[in-house]
Amino acid sequence: MHGLMMEQPLLISDLIRHADRHHGSTEIVSKRVEGDIHRYTYRDAHKRARKLAKALLALSVKLGDRVATLAWNGYRHYELYYGVSGIGAIIHTINPRLFGEQIAYIANHGEDKYLFLDLTFVGLVEKLAPELKTIKGYVILCDRARMPKTTLPNAMCYEELVEAQDDRYEWPTFDERTACGLCYTSGTTGNPKGVLYTHRSTIIHAYAAALPDTLNLSARDCVLPVVPMFHANAWSLPYGCTMIGVKMVFPGPHLDGKSVHELFETEHVSMSAGVPTVWLALLNFVKENKLKFSTLKTLVIGGSAAPPAMIRGFRNEFGVNVLHAWGMTEMSPLGTAGTLKAKHADASQEDKFTVQARQGRAPFGVDMRIVDTQGRELPWDGKAFGDLHVRGPWITSSYFKGEGGDPLKGGWFPTGDVANIDADGYMQITDRSKDVIKSGGEWISSIDLENIAVAHPAVAEAAAIGIVHPKWDERPILVVVKKAGAEVSREELLKFYEGKIAKWWMPEDVVFVNELPHTATGKLSKLNLRQQFQSYKLPSA
Ligand code: ADP
Repeated sequence: MHGLMMEQPLLISDLIRHADRHHGSTEIVSKRVEGDIHRYTYRDAHKRARKLAKALLALSVKLGDRVATLAWNGYRHYELYYGVSGIGAIIHTINPRLFGEQIAYIANHGEDKYLFLDLTFVGLVEKLAPELKTIKGYVILCDRARMPKTTLPNAMCYEELVEAQDDRYEWPTFDERTACGLCYTSGTTGNPKGVLYTHRSTIIHAYAAALPDTLNLSARDCVLPVVPMFHANAWSLPYGCTMIGVKMVFPGPHLDGKSVHELFETEHVSMSAGVPTVWLALLNFVKENKLKFSTLKTLVIGGSAAPPAMIRGFRNEFGVNVLHAWGMTEMSPLGTAGTLKAKHADASQEDKFTVQARQGRAPFGVDMRIVDTQGRELPWDGKAFGDLHVRGPWITSSYFKGEGGDPLKGGWFPTGDVANIDADGYMQITDRSKDVIKSGGEWISSIDLENIAVAHPAVAEAAAIGIVHPKWDERPILVVVKKAGAEVSREELLKFYEGKIAKWWMPEDVVFVNELPHTATGKLSKLNLRQQFQSYKLPSA
């Protein structure tokens, strides 16, 4: 017997309609590409998203069409999140930090119909335009006065398009399984692959993201997403914050320590989120200038492992709680968050740090398991480690246009991460499977080696990679960037490892460099680094 509750599809347009009605006067603040501060409210944003929807329809954007963006975090990008998905079209957020050929590849693969771009990217897109086969027009996110002279064919002005429409528009209703957004993952092997979200998956994911033991969003918060809206939906914040009625602050392209800190202070930001590299810069800036955080309570760190030294530093020196989170584009992206349980209430601060350094536990909706190389499930004892598999309603079942074949293994999505899970359900990533260092048939965790290195006061950033060894298969070396003005020798650094790891985990060598390569999403690029060190010879080999 079926129950008798209303069948109402879960649609993204309902988020902003809700925010308008219940949090209409709550602010959305943006530091614009133009350099100034723009502020308006959820009510204003909803009005403009409706006007944008009408403008898109006037451009004959239809259900299922892809509309691409190359834009920073800002109110116009936010309007696109709602205007595009709201009419049943698909917002394709492109990462502008990718190489030109990659951008062209994914725009063509996505068969994007229009491209909305920030002023910052006009030069970039002018060069790519001849390669972009499906784009009918380019909309520049600015007003008429700032419209640049451009060679882009059919270039339009965003403000003109939007303001030409009125806001008399009712969002359409359709199947909640309709696609709403498209994100390509960097794909270290093969071509980038498109992850296609549905309205339903996005809404359920936003609910889960907002929960107290996940991101803990509330209408009393002010959130500044540093994580870009072109990287895995800014970890759901543009949806989750709208659902809850959180004041949002968008930093635009200004992500240096000074700009971010200034916005934290002037807008009374209580929570922010981003990858470790951004927080490294912020932490250094704040320390160098003897500043503090007056309102910031929580910093969500994910995308790469948050080093325990960073978690400790923010707490001990600034009273800011670090929430370690793990996920991936294929998971919308949230998979786990490192909130404590009641049993940790009386634990020492050091024991709490140990729990918080793990990637966290899954909210309802993410089912996890770890398996060995034969696919046998491993115990949750915090020691046994293996391939991490996940499944759930906001996890991808296959890539756009079937790219790469069926990714699932017996209904589970293999994350490509290697992890252990403890008896309380806290998962810890020990490596990406392709980054794991294989020595004498055993695995060495590159993340563990890196976390120890960055705990040394003279080390700014470190990467551990495996170097081919005639006897052991691979042996670890450490590639290190020193802090400005700091000194440390190879021997001192290796000594720092003593007592912290098993002897056979000891890096064979330390190489000092001026900088480490990063990917378009701000993570250490181990692939690049391994290429750089291809002809490097181990001292013992
Ligand atoms: P990209 O590789 O394009 O950045 P994703 O953002 O989807 O794509 O990357 C997901 C991967 O990032 C995960 O599979 C994992 O390897 C890594 N990752 C994400 N969060 C963490 C974390 N907190 N600790 C360690 N690794 C993480």
